[in-house]
Amino acid sequence: MHTHLLPERLPDFGKQFGYGDFIHLDHHRPGYARMMKGNHFFREIERNCWDPELRIHEYASHNTPLQVVCTIPVMFSYWAKGADCLELSKYLNDHLAGVVDDYPEHYLALGTIPMQDTDLAIQELQRIKALGFPGIQIGSNVNQLNLSEAQFFPIFEACQDLDLAILVHPWEMMGEAEMKKYWLPWLVGMPAETSRAICSLIFGGVMERLPRLRWCFAHAGGSFLTTIGRVQHGFDCRPDLVAVDNPVPPRNYLGKFWVDSATHDPALLRFVLETVGEDKVCLGSDYPFPLGDLEIGSFMENMQLPAHTLEKIFYKNTLAWLHGE
Ligand SMILES: [Zn+2]
Repeated sequence: MHTHLLPERLPDFGKQFGYGDFIHLDHHRPGYARMMKGNHFFREIERNCWDPELRIHEYASHNTPLQVVCTIPVMFSYWAKGADCLELSKYLNDHLAGVVDDYPEHYLALGTIPMQDTDLAIQELQRIKALGFPGIQIGSNVNQLNLSEAQFFPIFEACQDLDLAILVHPWEMMGEAEMKKYWLPWLVGMPAETSRAICSLIFGGVMERLPRLRWCFAHAGGSFLTTIGRVQHGFDCRPDLVAVDNPVPPRNYLGKFWVDSATHDPALLRFVLETVGEDKVCLGSDYPFPLGDLEIGSFMENMQLPAHTLEKIFYKNTLAWLHGE
């Protein structure tokens, strides 16, 4: 689970809608494309970002037959007008549905929705369900609003009612403008964003009020799990600041949500397994991006984990997250 896939061609949504830095692709040489945010270069991607067959072969070389795909977070476009984001979301979701239809043994897809417009988001959730997707991917914040804001609750409630799982992925990283050097938004901001999302969902009482909703958090939960002692202590020593919307201690939620395995560190993965339990860690690669686990979990095979634990990480836990137990 947790891989990213784009259509090879994207409409020029900026031109179509008449505003905004929507992403478009500049296929400037065979096998490579520049992702352009308006007129600004964002990132270069390679063929394995859009070619489903090439991806199947690359995955097969790591003994992995199936990928859970979702869009690249920069495509979320929560800053756009709701109706325009809905149209973009539909385009991306229809594309992913086509890939799943063409290669049903190799792909499962998570949809994207216009989080900035509650009604339109729920409308697209219903379509996503009809397309047969097991879940959606959302950002760690929505235009810097935390996921605990009241406007998002009906969306999460609809996900629970429709039995759609949620992957929370960091994006629009806090502090990005002040720390551009050394790739700090990715190395520092991203893990903090994911912790921000988990803390907001716990302290805001969202997880408490929607106990059947199945959450998974990218990059092993970012910095949340490694700071759980501090988070719990904060809850204990300053309940006047922390426990204002939900009286349940944060540690009580360990083992109730899933995280991926993208740690790049056997010792950290052991800690994550101990902290959330071996039923809640899913093989996540973040393929095809360079920060991902591009050998698709091979480091785990050298960790002397019991075979039944590896089986859980490699596929059983993902199925439980996506389809319920
Ligand atoms: Zn990712």
